Amino acid sequence: MSGLPRLLPWHREIFTRMMALHQRDRLGHAWLFSGLQGMGKLTFARYLAQSLLCESENSETKPCCECKSCNLFSKGNHPDFQLVQPEKRLIKVEQIRDQLDFANQTSQRGGMKILVFKPAEAMNLNAANALLKLLEEPPPGTLLVLISHQPALLLATLRSRCQHLRCPAPTSALAASWLNEQGYAGNAEKILQLANGAPLLALHLTESGVLAEHESISQCLSGLARGQTSALQAAHECEKFSTMTCIENLMLAVKAALAQQQAGLESADPDLQTVIQVLNRKAGAMALHAYYRKLLRARIDCLAPNNANQLLILEDLLSGWSKLSQGSP
Ligand SMILES: [Zn+2]
Repeated sequence: MSGLPRLLPWHREIFTRMMALHQRDRLGHAWLFSGLQGMGKLTFARYLAQSLLCESENSETKPCCECKSCNLFSKGNHPDFQLVQPEKRLIKVEQIRDQLDFANQTSQRGGMKILVFKPAEAMNLNAANALLKLLEEPPPGTLLVLISHQPALLLATLRSRCQHLRCPAPTSALAASWLNEQGYAGNAEKILQLANGAPLLALHLTESGVLAEHESISQCLSGLARGQTSALQAAHECEKFSTMTCIENLMLAVKAALAQQQAGLESADPDLQTVIQVLNRKAGAMALHAYYRKLLRARIDCLAPNNANQLLILEDLLSGWSKLSQGSP
């Protein structure tokens, strides 16, 4: 990965705090950065790493973006920085072993050596145990950063050897203005809702055509809820999208319907709003919760390897959706 990382506005306070710890020589050797996916934890870790490695004389203005170290960092080949990410969904023990040499060598540029693992929960058990050894006997001058969206999935022994930093989420107003600053001219609130409030995920959605899929699926769900189409027809219409995408859109609709019923929160998404209006006329909270559980089970079925029954799963869910919107049990 190259290019200089940026400090996201909702990370200013934690950046100042981490740099102050570094100034006082209290940073320690291992951190766990947790928080929701799409909030910019990796961006923060890279920005912090660049600042810790920066060779500027002035500690107030790190990263300077001008020194040799910042230069190497921006080109993605700083010799004292390593980012470890999954290969085929897993971080494997071989990848951790490769990093042991790096950690045990002396630093190439005379400063710290920084290793970032993202997401740390992608480590299999062997990999986690290998990393544990490194955490138990940390080589001097090495900083390990574990990034996790789901820290509960990590070995307790790994967690207990790290200092914990919970990366904050921005307010919805800050997230929306940030999204607009990135050049997104559409409905920022709608896209943020689709991304569960996560700005970086929202930005990714604007760039990847997910929004158009969402609109098509919402229209299909609305037609089905009004009885204008059958579950079978709807399943065929939605077949061009992945079953997982359809399940996620159904989850979004049910969550938005519940938020409206229980807390009076109106969805900012006009496509979803139409669907919710039809749904809420007939379906109560209990039925919505039951259907949501069905979606959760379907998501697990969908992830099973070699699952060839994607169309059947979809048809079953859409048939359930149709009954839900008509008030049938
Ligand atoms: Zn610098």
